[in-house]
Amino acid sequence: MPRSPVVAEQERTPFLVPVDDEHVRRERAKARELRDSQWWKRRRSSGLCHYCGRSVGAKALTMDHLVPIVRGGRSTHGNCVPACKDCNSAKKHSLPTEWSPASGGPAGGEESGR
Ligand SMILES: [Zn+2]
Repeated sequence: MPRSPVVAEQERTPFLVPVDDEHVRRERAKARELRDSQWWKRRRSSGLCHYCGRSVGAKALTMDHLVPIVRGGRSTHGNCVPACKDCNSAKKHSLPTEWSPASGGPAGGEESGR
């Protein structure tokens, strides 16, 4: 029996959960509210990127979802982290387990070349 290509795709990528437009719309709206909240202003006031640890300043930090909305993530405090533009655009729709900063790691850190 022929199987739908969508089902086959989801079996290959177990982290991909089906999300509907309604979920995406709702969580994106929540993210916008969260960006205006005191919580977020405090969160990014450190100026540190969650991923690469660079200090880029509060203004340069964008809100990133650890689990992207399009992959079933929600706009909760636990799922939203400040990220620099480099990391945010490099990560795109990846899960944290699929992506790590490629730019040499945190500043001043040791290179773990073996
Ligand atoms: Zn970064």
